[in-house]
Amino acid sequence: MYLIILDSETDFDGWRQAARALALHHIAPADVTWQVQGQTKDQLPPGLSEAPGLPPIETESTFTVPANFIELARITILHRDDGRFALLNRLLWRLKADHDLLEAITDPDVTQAAAMAGAVQRDVQRMRDLVRFREIGRDQKAHYAAWFEPEHHIIAFAAPFFVRRFADIPWSILSPDVCAHWDGHAVSFTPGISRRERPAPGHLEETWRRHFQPDRLPTPDALVKRRRNLHEASILEPLLVDAERWTGGRISPRPETTMGRKATSDDLEALREEAAHCRACHLYKDATQTVFGEGPKSANIMLVGEQPGDKEDLAGHPFVGPAGKMLDRALEEAGVDRKKVYVTNAVKHFKFVPRGKIRLHQKPVTPEIRACRQWYEREVSVIQPDLIVAMGATAAQSVFGKITPIGKNRGRLIDLPDGRKALVTVHPSYLLRLPDPEAKALEYRRFVEDLKIAAGLQKKAARAA
Ligand code: SF4
Repeated sequence: MYLIILDSETDFDGWRQAARALALHHIAPADVTWQVQGQTKDQLPPGLSEAPGLPPIETESTFTVPANFIELARITILHRDDGRFALLNRLLWRLKADHDLLEAITDPDVTQAAAMAGAVQRDVQRMRDLVRFREIGRDQKAHYAAWFEPEHHIIAFAAPFFVRRFADIPWSILSPDVCAHWDGHAVSFTPGISRRERPAPGHLEETWRRHFQPDRLPTPDALVKRRRNLHEASILEPLLVDAERWTGGRISPRPETTMGRKATSDDLEALREEAAHCRACHLYKDATQTVFGEGPKSANIMLVGEQPGDKEDLAGHPFVGPAGKMLDRALEEAGVDRKKVYVTNAVKHFKFVPRGKIRLHQKPVTPEIRACRQWYEREVSVIQPDLIVAMGATAAQSVFGKITPIGKNRGRLIDLPDGRKALVTVHPSYLLRLPDPEAKALEYRRFVEDLKIAAGLQKKAARAA
């Protein structure tokens, strides 16, 4: 029996080195026990009190594994299950004999690893969604802190997202595993705070002070070392794309299509949940969250905008900013019952460029619109609207699947290949940007006139019901 002791719960390099040596020595996974430094000997299996060293490797022999296994292993190792090291070792061992093992999607080991990678990915997204910083230390230099309890070992892995998102403010994320700190220049990590000391609401500052008085903050040397950790985490982050492929496409099949029937809340919720983890284009990296469509499951009109704006990105709801307010007013004037329409965007993540403290809207480009169209299509499949209103050029491109000029097509019903009707009009934010009040008033009237076509259809459907 061999005992391998890893440096930490997330010691991927240590695991990889040991697993490779074990495989080259033909030591079967069943003969290996994995532990993390700090675990006591009385936790060892009976009969295993010493750690026998591996015999020297006698040959130069080596072997290769598919690159996607390495990617899968990097993510899976962040799972909290103690059996993950052995599971990955078993997969590595089996890949030596069967290079295509990962294609066997019903294999229990493959399934389990993919499920673990998916759980890690969801936890990272949960952290991105739930971490809310509170300002503390107002009497001295302001600092922001948040408490988060991850399900898996993801704090270091997820930290680069918060560095990018909150680059201008010093912050700390406190957690039971490890605490992450950003001082505006470098990220550092300190030991976690036990769950017993979890700060009560309103007592975050007290906990932060107790643990992170200046003399307890990391030394410059420690910061250099920890900067390396950040770099490593930055390298790891793109691998989430691969974890999604594992979990989204293969192990957790998409919800069945609802074509031909009306949606249930479950259908929509499943879709929303799935979209929350989308990594199909790069836009998720800087945005706060996926902003999915909203509205009643029975809606027969779907309004499609371009993308969430700054306010929507923070709130997590579509059309809650100034353009949303203008849309509400125009819908009311046109006679459309806002409560009975489903509103969404062609692109579900906010695209912007930072300018100081402001995030400037950027128009999505064709590859981003294409990547996100899957969500629009699936929303249509679930909601089954009779009419789709494309507001603006991006929405029109998504609805028609090609560049569709607004001027030439607005204000009339257009047949879609699936039998639905489409209506093209401008985006309310276009109206907001018009500098000339007269032109603005005129364009607003035209917008309301376009929406009246939707109102007519809504009334007709209500009479028929
Ligand atoms: S913008 Fe759309 S495709 Fe891109 S990551 Fe977000 S949800 Fe996915």
